[in-house]
Amino acid sequence: MPTSFPDFRLGRVLATSFTATLTERQGDAVERIPTPGRLVDWLAVSGLAVESCTPGQLDRARELRESIHAAATAAARRDPLPEPAVRVINDCSTQGRAAAVLTAEGARHWRLGSTSAVADALGVIAADAISIVAGERDGRLALCASPTCRAAFFDTSRSRTRRWCDMNTCGNREKKARFRAAAHDRSGPGPGPGRGPGPGPAT
Ligand SMILES: [Zn+2]
Repeated sequence: MPTSFPDFRLGRVLATSFTATLTERQGDAVERIPTPGRLVDWLAVSGLAVESCTPGQLDRARELRESIHAAATAAARRDPLPEPAVRVINDCSTQGRAAAVLTAEGARHWRLGSTSAVADALGVIAADAISIVAGERDGRLALCASPTCRAAFFDTSRSRTRRWCDMNTCGNREKKARFRAAAHDRSGPGPGPGRGPGPGPAT
């Protein structure tokens, strides 16, 4: 039996939910789709169920993921989009053969082709990324304020002032850090361990 894998961090936006399968990119990175089976699991909970996934398809998925991350980061910074990333996103989008279908209840479902369904799922994710990077959806691309994260996320808050990719993780950690810093300030600097100028700038 497999041991436990890192949990998924699912959001409401498909493309950035996908980029969040690698977290803490600027710190100790956590790979949340470490095996083809975990990509199958992630696709299933994201409405893109596939029967199986090969190691090569997982590689392709990660290539798309990092391309979306690069393009979304550039868009958030208003930098030019990196050409290789755009190429991968477009290749995945054009190679997918998923069809949007309307259910009787009025919901949209994705119907994937029977063969190479992972490519179809990646096509849906790539198209979702395109709609965000192109600014077609109501929201704003921003970068997480956590220095070990810096994930690109899609801010749909009314005020467009969201600072963290995820309130329960990055946001919560920063709040705790600020609380600790405030408590430390109240207790005074103290004699300290005498290791020079201290731990460096608190960023
Ligand atoms: Zn974050």
